[in-house]
Amino acid sequence: MFKINDNYLKLPGSYLFSTIAKKVNAYTEANPDKSIIRLGIGDVTQPLAPAIIESLHSAVDEMGNAETFHGYAPDLGYEFLRSAMAKNDYQARGCDIAADEVFISDGAKCDSGNIQEIFSTDNKIAVCDPVYPVYVDTNVMAGRTGIYNAKTETWSDVIYMPCTADTNFAPELPKETPDLIYLCFPNNPTGSTLTKSQLQDWVDYANRVGAVIIYDAAYEAYISEEDVPHTIYECEGARTCAIELRSFSKNAGFTGVRLGATVIPKDLKCGEVTLHSLWARRHGTKYNGAPYIVQKAGEAVYSEKGRKQLKKQIAYYMNNAKIIYHGLKDAGYNVSGGVNAPYIWLETPEGMSSWDFFDYLLEKANVVGTPGSGFGPSGEGYFRLTAFGSYENTLAAMERIKAL
Ligand code: PLP
Repeated sequence: MFKINDNYLKLPGSYLFSTIAKKVNAYTEANPDKSIIRLGIGDVTQPLAPAIIESLHSAVDEMGNAETFHGYAPDLGYEFLRSAMAKNDYQARGCDIAADEVFISDGAKCDSGNIQEIFSTDNKIAVCDPVYPVYVDTNVMAGRTGIYNAKTETWSDVIYMPCTADTNFAPELPKETPDLIYLCFPNNPTGSTLTKSQLQDWVDYANRVGAVIIYDAAYEAYISEEDVPHTIYECEGARTCAIELRSFSKNAGFTGVRLGATVIPKDLKCGEVTLHSLWARRHGTKYNGAPYIVQKAGEAVYSEKGRKQLKKQIAYYMNNAKIIYHGLKDAGYNVSGGVNAPYIWLETPEGMSSWDFFDYLLEKANVVGTPGSGFGPSGEGYFRLTAFGSYENTLAAMERIKAL
């Protein structure tokens, strides 16, 4: 009789978004006359920029012609996109990353989940708390996290690094030494960032203790402040300790198009073995490449026209973020995030849990957000609103909250 990977059975159900949907459905059924504004989503709403659509159309036409048809993409991605990324995302910022250190994929979710495969199951992971749930859950599936404690909602073999108002929403160096450190900045869900010198401390720490940092830069395009690094490779020594994950979802609206990349410098080694060679082997074996038309769309992100159009798109969302940030402040809330990220993180009023506040906002303002406790135990007492709605809805939501 076959056996299953019973690590999957250890996963507690992730009821966050289904519970939200159920509560919202029940409320709308009971109150059909109310108009609900959803500021809980982490998905973009603006259409693809014209330069991207143009590039997609012309790539589709190429596929209809025998001379320009493309079959399987190269496993590691087309040279034109790897070069565009290396040049624009890294070399233009003075970072020493070559095109052949960039691996193209269909998004950061898969890469952030799959990257743990190239490491031993003995490795100990450290994560921020609250956190994007994929990092922990995929390590659970791999059997790396020990036993789940339902009361504390934590795993025995995971090092949690609380990111709360007490730590200014940044992780502190852990007491116990990890092997793999997941960092995501600008952060989902808190919207916080690290300064370059804070990130440099992490790079120095990882090099000192022999750990690898898996740096998720999915929200890099939202950075507005000078001292916030756009990539971990701005830090000295990152080539020997850091892997970086990139996504086209939030900078260019590719959530439904699917494109991302993982960067592994060739200097990142365990003894004589490069992690680059392991990831290349994994990619070549398990992945057949992001579609040609999508990679051409990705190339347009770096064109002059594309850049201009996307700058406007980001500004649109960040204007929403500003409206939410100031609206909540005016209404008397303690607020953070929203300056270098499309996420605004607020403290729930005293005596209200994250879920109490969810119910309160839904019922009294007809606004939907996301309870912070859904992202980890240290998210309790916090709440996330996102800037991905329309301008009109964002304004209306803030008027409703201020009127409470
Ligand atoms: N990483 C973080 C921190 C995210 O919040 C998300 C999506 O919300 C992703 C990765 C997923 O990105 P992609 O759409 O490229 O898979």
